[in-house]
Amino acid sequence: MSNCKAELFGEGWKRMKEWESDRIHIRNLEVFGRHGVFPEENRLGQKFTINAVLYISTREAGLKDDLTKSVHYGEVSHYLTSYMKEHTCQLIEAAAEQMVRAVLLRFPAVEKVTLELSKPWAPIGLPLEAVSVEITRGWHRAYIAVGSNLGDREGYIRRGIQSLNAREDCVVERVSGLIVTKPYGVEEQPDFLNGMIEVRTLLFPEELLDALHSVEQEADRERKIHWGPRTLDLDIIFYDDCVVDMERLSIPHPDMGNREFVLKPLAELAPYLRHPLTGKTVGQMLSELSEP
Ligand code: ATP
Ligand code: CA
Ligand code: CA
Repeated sequence: MSNCKAELFGEGWKRMKEWESDRIHIRNLEVFGRHGVFPEENRLGQKFTINAVLYISTREAGLKDDLTKSVHYGEVSHYLTSYMKEHTCQLIEAAAEQMVRAVLLRFPAVEKVTLELSKPWAPIGLPLEAVSVEITRGWHRAYIAVGSNLGDREGYIRRGIQSLNAREDCVVERVSGLIVTKPYGVEEQPDFLNGMIEVRTLLFPEELLDALHSVEQEADRERKIHWGPRTLDLDIIFYDDCVVDMERLSIPHPDMGNREFVLKPLAELAPYLRHPLTGKTVGQMLSELSEP
């Protein structure tokens, strides 16, 4: 019981269980496509079938009997049908990946899609019923710390945010106020301007890191000294409630609890967000940091 309560109320930013389980199914949609590794498959084409699960809260649509609060499964089915006709891939893995991405971009109310693409007539010379690929892809929420202490600091930060937002797979939904902070680590350098952004993204954590590195590069960032002066620094603080421990990527950012310039702007956007390992809220971490 206490667990269940924590699930519902403890983490206000998390979705309640019932909402998460809403989904719309499109079953065995027959489509024509030219995907395959053999030239005849690309030329003649063949039948494919699609099973799609669209994760979307149907609560409001259900209560109000209003289609505009949901997603039109007819439109999605037509979209999948034309997508299959108009694009050609060698692999059904590629067809599924690209099609799911297109659906998530075209129907933004859909948070996640599970798509199974089957090829009933896979030409392998054996009597199989079908071969299929099933993938699940969706939007993720990341909090990214932004900082600059060289040149036109605000300009670098604003342009960096714009450049990230210009990608169709990253939507910058909220931006905190920017604060001036004393340098951290290496103290002999100009003051920083720091802030936080909330991003809805289709990128996986490592892909997001690569995207941030290219945005830093556009700002002529030079990596000379660790913690040294920089035109633009973009650090992933949270990515959903994921924990990532890799050589080139740690999420949540391991030093976030010691950094007021991270916690303050983050608390402005999401004070109730919880650290996935310690369970502490951002607000709690911030007040613990300012305790003497
Ligand atoms: P700090 O991460 O302590 O603030 P920094 O931002 O000055 O240090 P950089 O030189 O910008 O460090 O980055 C060094 C490397 O840190 C990056 O190339 C990246 O691979 C790695 N890294 C690990 N975790 C993260 C993360 N959560 N966000 C961004 N980079 C990360
Ligand atoms: Ca940093
Ligand atoms: Ca960094």
